Amino acid sequence: MYLRMAKRLALETDKRLLWKLFWLMGIKGFLSVHKHKRRLKRGEFFPPFLYMSVINSCNLRCQGCWVDVGAKQSRIEVDAANKTITQAKAMGNSFFGILGGEPFMHKDLMEIFKAHPDAYFQVFTNGHFITDEVAAELHQLGNVTPLISVEGSEIISDQRRGREGVLNQTMEGIRAALRNNLMVGVCTSVCQTNIDDLVNDAWVDRLIEMGVMYCWFHVYRPCGPDANPDLSLTSDQQRRVRQFVVDTRATKPIIVVDAYHDGAGNALCPAVTGFTHHIGPWGDIEPCPIIQLAAETIHDDRPLKEKFNESEFLRDFRHMTAQNTRGCVVMERPDILVQIAEKHGARDTTARGTAIEELKAMQPRRSQYVPGNEIPERNLAYRLAKKFCFSDFGAYDQQAFTQASWTDPGESPTPAGGRSPSQLPVISSK
Ligand code: SF4
Repeated sequence: MYLRMAKRLALETDKRLLWKLFWLMGIKGFLSVHKHKRRLKRGEFFPPFLYMSVINSCNLRCQGCWVDVGAKQSRIEVDAANKTITQAKAMGNSFFGILGGEPFMHKDLMEIFKAHPDAYFQVFTNGHFITDEVAAELHQLGNVTPLISVEGSEIISDQRRGREGVLNQTMEGIRAALRNNLMVGVCTSVCQTNIDDLVNDAWVDRLIEMGVMYCWFHVYRPCGPDANPDLSLTSDQQRRVRQFVVDTRATKPIIVVDAYHDGAGNALCPAVTGFTHHIGPWGDIEPCPIIQLAAETIHDDRPLKEKFNESEFLRDFRHMTAQNTRGCVVMERPDILVQIAEKHGARDTTARGTAIEELKAMQPRRSQYVPGNEIPERNLAYRLAKKFCFSDFGAYDQQAFTQASWTDPGESPTPAGGRSPSQLPVISSK
C-alpha cells in the first residue's frame, strides 16, 4: 500500500504542487500544532487550524444545510480575510479551511489565496464553479486544494442538493481540477441515503482511478433550520464508516481524512480539543461551523490573538463540553450549548435568528463517542501522524472526563421508511 501510494504521488502529481502541500501543510502544519501544544502548556490558547466561511450564498439548496444560503449575501471581504489570515500566520498557522455557502461564489476569493503564498488553503466546494480557467488559476497559485463534495448517485445527489443535474456538474468540476493537475479531494457527508453507494471499495477505487488524492467521509449531523433526523446514521452505521476509513487507510493508495478520532480510535471533537475554531460569513468567531453562536467577531480592532486567548465563551465551550462527552456536543448535548450561550450572552450568528430554538428542538442522539467501540488505526503512518498532530491534547483529562461523566443519548431512532440500496452510476473521468 505504501509503495502504491508513493507511486501515485511520484507519477500522478505536479511536483511543484506536491512540494507546496508537503511544506506548507505538512511541515509548517506540524510546526503550528507543536506551537499550539506549547501554548497550551503555558496556559495560552490559539487554534492551529482555522476554518473560515467566506460567503453565505450558494447555488444549491442542500437538505439539512445550516447556512442561510438564501439570505442577503454577506462576504468576508479581502481586507478582513487578509488581516485574519496574517494574524493567524503570526501565531504559526499555515493551513486554512475555506467554506461557504459556496466559496467560489466569492468574487475575490483568488485575491485572498494570492495574498498568502506562504499558507495552504483547502476549499470545501460543490465543484460547480471549477472550470478549466478557474482550475488553471488555482494550479498557477499552487497553494489550494479543492475538496469537492459528492453526496450520492445522480438521483440521491439531486434529492439531497435540491436541483437537477447536480452530480454531473460536480463531476465536471472534479474533471477540470484533475485535468489541471490540482491536488483534488472528494468528501461526502455520509447519511442514510448515500452510505451504501459511497462507503465502499468500488467508490474509493473509482476515485483512485480518476486521480483523486484524498477523500473525507464525515457523518451527517442533523442541525440547522431544516434538520433531517431521518438521514442520520445509527451508531452501528457510524461504526461501519469508522471501520471503513481505518481499513481503507490500510489497504488503498489514497489519503483518507477524518477529524473525530485519535490514533487509538478514541473519539474526540476538534473544536473541544482546541485544534480548530470557525469564522462565519458575518465575521463571527464560532466554536465550529455548525455551532452558530459567538461572543467575538473579527470585525473589531482587538488582535485575533487576544480574542481567542481571552474568549470566556470559547473557553467554557471547550471545558464544559469536555466534562460531558468526547463526542459531538451538537448531537449529544445541545442543551449544553444553550446553557453556554445564555451564560455568556452569546449572539445567534444566523440570519434567520433561530439558532437557540433549533438547539432546543434537537433530539439528542449518539455521535462518534460510544465507549467500547474504539477502532484503532491499522496504518502505522496515520498512527504516528495522529500521535504527534491530532490527539485530544489532554483536553478531556484536564476536565476530568470519565465514561461515568457521560450520559448516553441512546441509539438514534430507526429512520422512517428505510431504503433499498441503489448503485452509483459509472461516471467517466474522461
Ligand atoms: S461540535 Fe460536533 S460538529 Fe462541531 S467540531 Fe465538534 S464534533 Fe465536529
